[in-house]
Amino acid sequence: MIHFQLSADLISNLELKKKAGKRIGFVPTMGALHEGHLSLIREAQLHCDVVVCSIFVNPTQFNQATDLEFYPRPLAEDLKKLTESGCDIVFVPSVEEMYSGNFSKDSTALYGKYIHRLEGAFRPGHFDGVVTVVKKLFLKVNPHEVFFGQKDYQQCLVVKELIQKEFPSIVFHMCPVLRETDGLAMSSRNIRLNEEERKLAPYIYECLSEIANAAPGQRFALLQKARERLAEPPFTLEYLEYCDRETLEVKEDFEGNAVLLVAAVLGKTRLIDNMLIGIN
Ligand code: AMP
Repeated sequence: MIHFQLSADLISNLELKKKAGKRIGFVPTMGALHEGHLSLIREAQLHCDVVVCSIFVNPTQFNQATDLEFYPRPLAEDLKKLTESGCDIVFVPSVEEMYSGNFSKDSTALYGKYIHRLEGAFRPGHFDGVVTVVKKLFLKVNPHEVFFGQKDYQQCLVVKELIQKEFPSIVFHMCPVLRETDGLAMSSRNIRLNEEERKLAPYIYECLSEIANAAPGQRFALLQKARERLAEPPFTLEYLEYCDRETLEVKEDFEGNAVLLVAAVLGKTRLIDNMLIGIN
């Protein structure tokens, strides 16, 4: 695996590969890699000749200084996992390399109304930071195909729209959520859960599954029950919504395709998850 820290080196290496007709797949991450991330690498390997992974903890998408400060950064372990996975190139830029001191964010004002809901409402400015960094990375890597996780469902909608508007040649893939055996969605933040919280955390998945597996007529009652249970300490519920998959507007009827999205804080750790309902 080749390791680049400078954009210019990455760009010139990839130019040669593109000239040789190689198809470039790209997996952006913030590191602290787990099986969920590695599943994206494996999916990219199925579609592309060269797989590029970036590791960059993007300061402009954090709306809490402590979350940024305590975000795990186990770089040596990440590089080992990527090498073992057969990833071809890893790009690990510094903050200076990505921003050159200019932290102005791209506005998401031009994006769909869904951007202001859910994560957009609870993490003001988060998606502006995401769009800013994803654009910068796309311009450097100039990939043929990109691979994002359904774990961040709303982020997938934002990136899909960014691609439609500004990078129409890029093929977008949304890859399934990888879970621990007890159902907890894998996340770099899970290591912050203490032993007791870790035992309780799969409850979020249980709530989602219960609603998803119920007959449409029973879903509203289960949704309300789950909201109450996830609002009880040590959980604090931010949202649990049954939404249209494209607009993220709340769906009043429980028939047809939908997506259930949840964000809850457990102790000091914010957890998000989602589940598609209907035909995947
Ligand atoms: P992050 O490092 O959290 O920014 O995530 C990098 C990419 O990995 C994003 O596209 C995430 O949606 C994806 N990802 C994170 N957790 C999982 C998971 N449990 N299963 C699949 N993909 C994931």
